[in-house]
Amino acid sequence: MQAIILLGAPGAGKGTLAEGVRNATGLIHVSTGDMLRAAVKAGTPTGREAQAYMEKGELVPDDVILRIVGERLAQGKPDDRYMFDGFPRTLEQARQLDATLAALGGSVRQVFLLEVPVPVIVSRLSGRRICKTCGAVYHLTNIPPKQAGVCDQCGGPLYQRPDDSEETVLNRLEVYQRQTASLIEFYAQKGLLVRINAGTTPQAATAELLARLA
Ligand code: ADP
Ligand code: ZN
Repeated sequence: MQAIILLGAPGAGKGTLAEGVRNATGLIHVSTGDMLRAAVKAGTPTGREAQAYMEKGELVPDDVILRIVGERLAQGKPDDRYMFDGFPRTLEQARQLDATLAALGGSVRQVFLLEVPVPVIVSRLSGRRICKTCGAVYHLTNIPPKQAGVCDQCGGPLYQRPDDSEETVLNRLEVYQRQTASLIEFYAQKGLLVRINAGTTPQAATAELLARLA
């Protein structure tokens, strides 16, 4: 069981990039943010526990995250190849991921750090819109849908994530600096870090990542 990781601030474009990389490679895309939003929507105990943290832009506790990722990997097969998006986000999560993969005879192969200037991040998040039905991601000016408010792929309604309000966006960036940025050093020391310029277009960032994928 091998894995690559997409690391970067909220708004760096992890989800959009993951879609392009998955389509090009067949890697299995695992987004803890998507899993949590699905749990909130379904009203499961995990969803009820996670919701308050997510609305404030705080991290959901490690034990909750490690449980849902553990359950997901337990359904996998030994030769599965994963792409994690939004996970790990703390040193504890990173250490546990190493242990879990090692127990399954695998490891983290590469960690792609998506680098984007802060003003670009703020504009991306505040303009972001998401399909309520299929989860496709749009942006009011950068990736507009053909018809305003309607998903190109499935016709579902588009909405703004509650944690994309300006105040929560600023808190999420602070949380990233405080709790997640230390992972850059953690993976750099292991020789796994690959820096990607994700400040231009999704196409350019996806092409750069694919070119550097081992
Ligand atoms: P973004 O990267 O844009 O913040 P995500 O969809 O990855 O968006 O995450 C949304 C929210 O879900 C986070 O703000 C956090 O509350 C929660 N979350 C997602 N992944 C994790 C994780 N690995 N650890 C803790 N909380 C997480
Ligand atoms: Zn849709």
